[in-house]
Amino acid sequence: MSEATTGSNYMLNHYTRGYGHPRLVNILARLYGKLMRQDLNPMSDILVTVGAFEALHCACQGLINPGDEVSEIEENRLMIGHSIIRNWQQQFSSRTKAIFLNNPQNPLGKVYNSCELEFIADLCIKHDVICVSDEVYEWLVYDKKQHIRIAKFPGMWERTITIGSAGKSFSVTGWKVGWAVGPAHLISPMQLYHHHSIRTLCTPTQEAVAIAFEKEFELLQSSNSYFNTLQKDVELSRNQLCGYLSDAGIRPIIPGGGYFIVADISSIDTGENLNDCNDDDEPYDLKFVKWAIREKKVTMIPLSIFYSPEHRNLGEKYVRICFVK
Ligand code: PMP
Repeated sequence: MSEATTGSNYMLNHYTRGYGHPRLVNILARLYGKLMRQDLNPMSDILVTVGAFEALHCACQGLINPGDEVSEIEENRLMIGHSIIRNWQQQFSSRTKAIFLNNPQNPLGKVYNSCELEFIADLCIKHDVICVSDEVYEWLVYDKKQHIRIAKFPGMWERTITIGSAGKSFSVTGWKVGWAVGPAHLISPMQLYHHHSIRTLCTPTQEAVAIAFEKEFELLQSSNSYFNTLQKDVELSRNQLCGYLSDAGIRPIIPGGGYFIVADISSIDTGENLNDCNDDDEPYDLKFVKWAIREKKVTMIPLSIFYSPEHRNLGEKYVRICFVK
């Protein structure tokens, strides 16, 4: 970042190209071209966004029209495992325009295996559906497993938007630089929406992310690769925190990827009957988290907030804990 802000190129203090700073889209095209085995055009196949969230927003605004339906898997269902992915097919109708996939997934840390992805890919092709694949934790997969990109399955490149984040890739969440990679016919409506809303991102952060990727590109798969050391360090933190939680009687669901552990709080005796609290509308996990902040000075996220109101009770026995810091 200091190279980008204090170097001699004063142009870096000015607006850059709206769809993505040229140096950044060029290296993203080289990197994802290699990872996805595609010949990417940096100008038409990539959009740089204000974090991955803006990429998701542009996908919704640019690709989904009034009356279209979208489909996603609710967190709880993933706990049940493979069968729910099979049940997913029942959700597809002639109005389904897109599915939203998150792999590796937040909050459960589920990493999809190739059978599951193949099944999802076949559904997308059969129903002619776009796949918006949020892969911000692409470099954070543990237990020697590999991150598998759905865009690489036969027939999927032309219907998949893959979303990434510099915040997650380089552990700089405050930088808010993200991107969408995909075929020009899907990226173009997203570029249009971006142009009429955000228009352009901060230039120096894009330059700095480009420099980081250029360095990392040369090191990919080597032991000096930042992505390699990051994955090892974070996996260690995961193992440590899982151990501490188990010792405390909070059963962790071991995540295969990402930043978070979901853990079962049902056997913790708080010494207070939280269910008797006045606020009856509040799910138990929310009461538990407030209790933990108040009495133990520990912050966690109640899992029920990840559910639609009718399924909220399914999250009540769980909390989400961040192990990356
Ligand atoms: N997708 C997922 C799955 C996330 O966990 C997050 C951040 N928590 C984002 C997207 C947003 O990333 P960014 O900060 O780059 O907008």
